[in-house]
Amino acid sequence: MNVYDGQRIAAMLAAREMTETDDVSDADIIILNTCAVRAKATDKVFSALGRIRRAKKPDALFGIVGCVAREAGADAFRRIPELNFVLGPQSYHKLPALLENPDSKLLNIDLGGLEKFDEMPRMSVSPAVAYIPIQEGCNHCCTYCIVPYTRGREISRPYADVVRDCVHAAETGAIEICFLGQNVNGYQYTDDEGHAFRLSDLIRAAAPLPGVRRIRFTSSYPTEMTDDLIDMFRTEPKLLPFLNMPIQSGSPNVLTRMNRPYELNLYIDIIDKLRRARPDIQISSDFIVGFPGETDADFEQTMEIAKRIKYINSYSFKYSPRPHTAAAVMPDQIQETVKATRLAKLDAALNEIQREFNESCINREMDCLCEGPDKTGRHLVYRTPYMQQCIVAAAPHAPAIARIRITAANKASLRGEFVG
Ligand code: SAH
Repeated sequence: MNVYDGQRIAAMLAAREMTETDDVSDADIIILNTCAVRAKATDKVFSALGRIRRAKKPDALFGIVGCVAREAGADAFRRIPELNFVLGPQSYHKLPALLENPDSKLLNIDLGGLEKFDEMPRMSVSPAVAYIPIQEGCNHCCTYCIVPYTRGREISRPYADVVRDCVHAAETGAIEICFLGQNVNGYQYTDDEGHAFRLSDLIRAAAPLPGVRRIRFTSSYPTEMTDDLIDMFRTEPKLLPFLNMPIQSGSPNVLTRMNRPYELNLYIDIIDKLRRARPDIQISSDFIVGFPGETDADFEQTMEIAKRIKYINSYSFKYSPRPHTAAAVMPDQIQETVKATRLAKLDAALNEIQREFNESCINREMDCLCEGPDKTGRHLVYRTPYMQQCIVAAAPHAPAIARIRITAANKASLRGEFVG
């Protein structure tokens, strides 16, 4: 989502004849797009701002947009008085007002909902992977999560607007469409005539668009995985056989305290249904270890579920107490050393499963999407249908989508060669 927001901001500046620079000391405007989901991300923003303040040209404008802006609000100006703007994740379209009046200070952390989508200029050329946001905010109040505070209550974008964005992306070069939402499979929009639309309808609308070869969506909440959506994995070959569906914990007690009230059996049933619809589907997850009150036995249940589902790729985090969340004030906060030990143990198991899956891909042929050259320029980086990174020797006129035979694998990536 932040990548998408960043692309829109860059397009807005490009429309004002600005060009990108890597050099902070050369920039006329410096914008940090920020994430507040864990404390470490927020801390990094303020140390980066300290560095930028010293390195930038005296008259260069600088500021923050996104969730840290929303979380810090006016306090950001107290911490870094030279800041020019602090704009929440739903107000970065107000940036032009500052460019027109550079001597002012701009603070806007309102939850304006969908306004930004209409006010920002469109990208004239789509990246190969077009991120298409379909909702803002989230209505699942997971007790650890700051997102309902920073991005607000869940609002689904009008179906016609999303389809229009898909058409525009396809016409300007998109090969893959990635639908985005904090609770993406909870998408629900009813138009003026009373027609109700779900994510499955958006997939059905995007699939026939010329040039579109792959479709995916992220991130899914387990119990929003309705049968119409599961069925799309059976009927729509462009939908990639890969799904990020975070479980967070394998302990029913912890899930209850996280306010994620689903039965583990139900979660496993959903995965079984998905596998029946699409036998080659693979799942990835996010995990939080060291949630308040998590016992050794709770943690062992997380280890068990990770091994049982065989997630091919996961993100795991130490629980980080966040302002405005219920879990931050729960008793029985877990010591950092315990969190670190549990995280290392879980990561070791997840890495092993990932390495095994990557190795099982050797000798398989897959249609992969080109991301561009690696740092050396001697290789091309492709993404498999499972979003694994696959490195191929650079070749002239390499296609954007190529049939690749996997020749080697390790935990982090694959190597391959063009077929034919
Ligand atoms: N709705 C999004 C949430 C984005 S946050 C999603 O489902 O992916 C991405 C991940 O960060 C979450 O899945 C969770 O595993 C982790 N996370 C969120 N809040 C956290 C916190 N307070 N401490 C540690 N990890 C957290």
